[in-house]
Amino acid sequence: LNVGVIRESAPSERRVAVVPDTVADLRTLGVMPLVESGAGAGARYADDDYASAGAEIRTASELYEHADVLLSVTRPSSEALRRLRADQVVIGTLQPMSAPLLVRDLAALGVTAISLDGVPRTLSRAQPMDALSSQANVAGYKAVLVAAASYDRYLPLLMTAAGVARPAEILVLGAGVAGLQAIATAGRLGAVVTGYDVRDEAREEIRSLGGRVLELPGVESATTEQGYARALTDEERRAQRATLADRVAHFDIVIATAQVPGGRPPLLLEEDAIARLRPGAVVVDLAAGPFGGNVALSRPAETVVTDRGVTVIGAGNLPATVPRAASEAYSRNLRALLGHLVDEGRLVVDLDDEIQAGVVVTHDGRVVHPAVAKAVE
Ligand code: NAD
Repeated sequence: LNVGVIRESAPSERRVAVVPDTVADLRTLGVMPLVESGAGAGARYADDDYASAGAEIRTASELYEHADVLLSVTRPSSEALRRLRADQVVIGTLQPMSAPLLVRDLAALGVTAISLDGVPRTLSRAQPMDALSSQANVAGYKAVLVAAASYDRYLPLLMTAAGVARPAEILVLGAGVAGLQAIATAGRLGAVVTGYDVRDEAREEIRSLGGRVLELPGVESATTEQGYARALTDEERRAQRATLADRVAHFDIVIATAQVPGGRPPLLLEEDAIARLRPGAVVVDLAAGPFGGNVALSRPAETVVTDRGVTVIGAGNLPATVPRAASEAYSRNLRALLGHLVDEGRLVVDLDDEIQAGVVVTHDGRVVHPAVAKAVE
């Protein structure tokens, strides 16, 4: 089985799906890694690094011709995907829900598309394959550094001969994977950190990282049976936004990471809440995307400074800005997924398997993932 590692084509993408360290591991599965020349360049892996690890270097056209399985980080361009042939497999974070027409084309071509954003996040044996979490972890870490770089004071308490600087007060909204990593990172940098989430379980996790917990009245515990947050009712949403607007003025930096699976990101900070922040305050919205974000005014990969001097940063692709750490983690996620899918050098699709049912999007000429099939209709 030849697995091909493509060179990512999205603007500013610097990650690579497989790092040289994983090559030997893949070979023990009975697969042969082929790497597109330059695929690792953004993360500073040279072709020679891959060749010394036991991979073969190929041009793009050789790769598409000889690979049985193509591995990517983000969704390859539609031109690249349309080059695929029947019975080829593509594995990556394909975000199928945001490209239903492309998914339909892949099914029509007879391509098997496997997307890591479908890994069941609450299934513990799937955790090593959970690329959304590994990349959210990187994003949560980097969000704090991005905020610190725009903030005009120190994060830690500093005592110097020139006087005492007070520590920054940081509020992290949403204490899932990215939020907890942001809390941990901000704490290590010496800030005073407060976390907020709508799930009761998150309180203990915030405290275990040394954070304080923000309590807001008006929102009942919002955990579903699967352990995720549920969408709030309109009344809860109104109460949450109003009380948050009252409390937010106390903070110097706000990092917003709230999301509900499958839904639009909840709007937590409206313009009037941002207006209450003190000049020099910084807000980073990790949830900023094409369908909105947690913060009014935030746009993906854009920074806005309000008239009052509050900086609102819509996060872009943060994992791509820490490309080696992000690629190493992603590469291990892929290795774990391939370990699950490959048996004696063959990739075996079995839709009765709980993990495969989550990740396999198209197979045998059909869109087989129920939620995606619904979106494609
Ligand atoms: P996650 O599901 O692990 O965490 C989201 C948290 O938000 C959960 O703990 C949930 O309980 C909480 N939440 C839901 N609704 C809430 C509400 N109304 N108020 C407060 N908390 C609420 O998700 P994650 O993997 O940590 O990702 C978080 C966000 O970061 C997502 O929007 C994701 O798309 C984004 N992200 C951005 C980047 C980037 O580079 N820009 C990278 C990775 C993730």
